[in-house]
Amino acid sequence: MAYTLSETYRAYCTHWEERIRAFIEKIERREKIEEIEMAPEKGALHGLPFAVKDNIAVKGFSLSCGSKLLQELRSPYTATAVQKLEDAEAWVLGKTNLDEFGMGSSTDNSGIQRTNNPWDPSRVAGGSSGGSAAAVAAGLVPFALGSDTGGSVRQPASFCGVLGLKPTYGAVSRYGLVAYASSLESIGILADTAARCRAVFAAIRGKDPLDQTSQDAPAAAPPLYGVAKSPKVIGVLSAESIARSLSAAAEGIEGNAGTRETAVHAALLETEVRHGFELAKERLAALGHRLVDVEIPSLKYGVPAYYTIATAEASANLARFDGVRYGRRPPWTENPEDLIDKTREAGFGPEVKLRILLGTFVLRSGFQDRYYLRAQRIRVGIRQSFEELLGDAGYTHAPSPACDAILMPVFPTRAFGRGDAGATLSPFAQKAADLYTCCANLAGLPALAFPVSLAEGLPVGVQLLGRAFSEGVLLDMVEAYEQTYPFPHPAGYKAFWP
Ligand code: GLN
Repeated sequence: MAYTLSETYRAYCTHWEERIRAFIEKIERREKIEEIEMAPEKGALHGLPFAVKDNIAVKGFSLSCGSKLLQELRSPYTATAVQKLEDAEAWVLGKTNLDEFGMGSSTDNSGIQRTNNPWDPSRVAGGSSGGSAAAVAAGLVPFALGSDTGGSVRQPASFCGVLGLKPTYGAVSRYGLVAYASSLESIGILADTAARCRAVFAAIRGKDPLDQTSQDAPAAAPPLYGVAKSPKVIGVLSAESIARSLSAAAEGIEGNAGTRETAVHAALLETEVRHGFELAKERLAALGHRLVDVEIPSLKYGVPAYYTIATAEASANLARFDGVRYGRRPPWTENPEDLIDKTREAGFGPEVKLRILLGTFVLRSGFQDRYYLRAQRIRVGIRQSFEELLGDAGYTHAPSPACDAILMPVFPTRAFGRGDAGATLSPFAQKAADLYTCCANLAGLPALAFPVSLAEGLPVGVQLLGRAFSEGVLLDMVEAYEQTYPFPHPAGYKAFWP
């Protein structure tokens, strides 16, 4: 089978034509690129092609952020994470589609195009890094970069049946990532195997003078390579326990009962996802790990806290898109204010406008206490609950942590369809369903999503959350899992790389 840039999935916003052609020629000349390009002595990434979400800067490439407003923009510089991969002699093939500015769970919020799921092109690829996930799942690249603010790497990874790593906050430089909600987001990795994911993370992590929030792992943190492969204690945060506390919380909230019910309902796992979660538990136990049930009652406030903080930060971060310095401008305007209004009116899609409005609402003068500061307090509570189970980020806690990792669902459903095909999810339900992913962002912790099963031809994923800077532990567990239970691929998949 030949390597082709399939049009079916529409994973790329823009791609590098000559590089893809060169790549195809190489493959055609010999069966596997390893014979020509791969040189193990030069490192695991040498000669590998990769894709980059179109909200991460690569010099000379588009940086559309999935927005009409920035569709013509070409980046004048390269993000640190991409630069480090290029230094390792991996090369960018294209920029991948996303929900506009990373806002969404389907990639259908892109102002540019829809991306289709390689397992079933009538369904979404997940989001917001849907293009990156689809590119890896379809075998266009062995790995891709995405960004995860509230689940945008792990959720599409789970929908497309690939691995998705959201690193510890600050472990990877955000320089060159167009900001959506700066205090929550990390550049993350979508990859075909755990070993690849680890090699990419090893290359891109570390303190960067260009990002003041970036840092190296503390000396006491477990190493990325070579941790003793002993059985681990896995805390299981079941969907049932979360649903119980959610319904209890809903009782005490004022407001529309219908909305509360929808929110609780949207967080419940569909049967196939529940089965996948149970299967993951069985298999991890069979691999020798000890599973214990844990509860984090404050998680029930995760989604409201996440959306309060994320929209507040988004309303500030997106203020720079005014058509003055960059962005598609209207042909004629009355004055500078009119220029800004018309640029934003025509350039931003409805979801982005909604979130800017929400953000300015929660930050408006006199109301910060009620929304934003309250959300920040909830965030601290959630972080503390995780730290009590996993140990703290500074590695100073005296008592030894109760668990090495926490097993959680990723998303309540498998890849959903579009309105026209039925089985879709409303924008509200999509937000309520972020419950399982947004907690890792609120707490700043690493989380690794991986595929466990297929149900009616669609992948189901689960995730392991760990202590800050314990990516090595999570990757070890998933690598061992993968050796016994290899990850599935969609029909027609072929890996052109070792
Ligand atoms: N679904 C989340 C949202 O819409 C994911 C965002 C993200 O991680 N970029 O905010």
